[in-house]
Amino acid sequence: MKVPKSVASLIEVFESLPGIGPKTAARLTYYLLHAPDELSQQLAEAAADLKTKTKICSICQNITEHDPCEVCDDPGRDRTIICIVEDPLDVWAIEKSGSFLGLYHVLHGVIAPLENIGPEELKINELLPRLRQDSGGQAKVKELILATNPSMEGEATAMYIQRLTKPLGIKTTRIARGIPIGAELEYADEVTLRRALEGRKDY
Ligand SMILES: [Zn+2]
Repeated sequence: MKVPKSVASLIEVFESLPGIGPKTAARLTYYLLHAPDELSQQLAEAAADLKTKTKICSICQNITEHDPCEVCDDPGRDRTIICIVEDPLDVWAIEKSGSFLGLYHVLHGVIAPLENIGPEELKINELLPRLRQDSGGQAKVKELILATNPSMEGEATAMYIQRLTKPLGIKTTRIARGIPIGAELEYADEVTLRRALEGRKDY
C-alpha cells in the first residue's frame, strides 16, 4: 500500500525545508493528522500570510508589514549609525538584546563566489544612497558597523563594503570577536551580542 498522496506531499514540503530530514518531516505530518483541524488551518494561513503580508522596507531592506519598518520609522533611533547585517534574523537577534539604538541595513546574504553570489545579488546598491543623504535635514551617517558573521563570506562581504564606503569618509567598525568564528549572529545569546557590539573596533 502506498502512502496517500496528500500525506506524501506534505512530508515532501516539510522535507524541502532547511534542517528537516525525512524522519522529522514524517513525524510533523503525522502529528498534524492527529492534531485538531485548526492547527493545520493556522499553519496554512500563517504560511500564506508570510508571503502576502510582508514586504521589504524601502530604507533598511528588512522584512516588514509596514514600509518604512518600525525601526526606520522610530524618531527615537539614532540616524547617524547604521548596523549592516546579513539577514532579518540578525536584526531580530540584535533588537532582542536591546543593545543597539541606531538603524540597520539588511544585505539578504553574503558574497559567496562558490555559490555565484556577487555583490549585485545583495542589497548593497540600496546602502549607498543612505550614506550620501545629507539634504532635507536628515542627520548624516557617521558610523557603519559591519556586523556580518565571522565566516569567510562574512569577512569578505565586510571588506567589500568597507572598500566601497571608504571614499565617503564614514567611520567603519567591525563587531568584536565575542561571536566565535564560524558561528552565526542569529544564534548568539543576548550577552554575547551586546559585548560584540560594544566592543566593536575600527575597521
Ligand atoms: Zn526599515
